[in-house]
Amino acid sequence: MDEFSFIDSIKQKTYKQSSIIKGIGDDAAVFRQQTQDIVIAKDMFVEGVHFTNNTMEPYHIGYRALAANLSDLAAMGANPAFYLVAIAIPKKWSTVDLDSIYQGMKDLAKDYQMDLIGGDTVSGEELTISITVIGYVDKAKAWYRETSEDNDIVFVTGTLGDSQAGFHIINNPGQYDQGEDFLIKRHRMPTPRIHFARELEPISRVSLNDISDGIASEANEIAEASNVCLHLYDSDIPISEHLRQFPLSLQTKWKYYGGEDFELMGTVPEKDWHLIEKAAEKTKTKLSKIGFVSSESKFQGQVILHYNNDKIERLVKNGYNHLRR
Ligand code: ADP
Ligand code: MG
Repeated sequence: MDEFSFIDSIKQKTYKQSSIIKGIGDDAAVFRQQTQDIVIAKDMFVEGVHFTNNTMEPYHIGYRALAANLSDLAAMGANPAFYLVAIAIPKKWSTVDLDSIYQGMKDLAKDYQMDLIGGDTVSGEELTISITVIGYVDKAKAWYRETSEDNDIVFVTGTLGDSQAGFHIINNPGQYDQGEDFLIKRHRMPTPRIHFARELEPISRVSLNDISDGIASEANEIAEASNVCLHLYDSDIPISEHLRQFPLSLQTKWKYYGGEDFELMGTVPEKDWHLIEKAAEKTKTKLSKIGFVSSESKFQGQVILHYNNDKIERLVKNGYNHLRR
């Protein structure tokens, strides 16, 4: 199949977003916006780095790549509208595989009425997918990391460490008999917390970050950007019952540093806590209070972990860092 029939095969016949004027088929796409702020994010997904043909089927590659991008939109409070896909395709990949990759993206996109409005197609050595997502928020209603303040409550959605546990199970087949499907699904088909984040709109201020590298990393990002200290309670970090079958050392490693769970963490003023609870209830999202924020100068920009025995220690960024050698 040549590039043109490939593009034709993935092209949507109709579009769901009313703001679209020109979708796939010209030199660029056009959409019109008057009243809302536009939010854009991009992520890249590379064979051998983020996945192998052992850890993911083509369908999961597409699903997971778009999910990671949508998670970034969720962390800004945005409503997803469009996506563009640049793909480098090795010769060994079949048309059926490519179709599955796009099907994975399309199935997830459908949940949010998103339209595929462009991209680029080249051949390459490793399968590489780079997706750009575009969404909207009401004027001045995007959530930023630098807005966390003294006495805020720290919260997180879902459970942490599942994705890494799923990855571990895929690589060690037949050794675990509990929650295998759940954990592997958390790795291959994570749920971006768009619906939950959209319900936060009435709140005056939320500092929000999505967990792609591990909460140790993301909590530090909020602490640094806001010049505050995030205090977390080790025993309140939510993990699934299935994670408990692994040795404690792995549980700890995965819940703090595992990443790729694509849950949301953030801070809100105490007075707005009930609104967060309402959003969680309405969207059937698990929500946990995991700590508080302080502005004491000696811990500024840091994350302090509290244990049941009153011991405290600094939680440093140790998540996945692609540039670290
Ligand atoms: P040009 O040469 O003008 O850049 P292309 O031939 O690359 O145009 O693309 C034609 C149309 O198909 C454009 O609308 C482009 O955005 C879209 N397109 C190309 N590759 C992809 C892809 N992998 N996924 C989605 N849309 C694509
Ligand atoms: Mg092109």
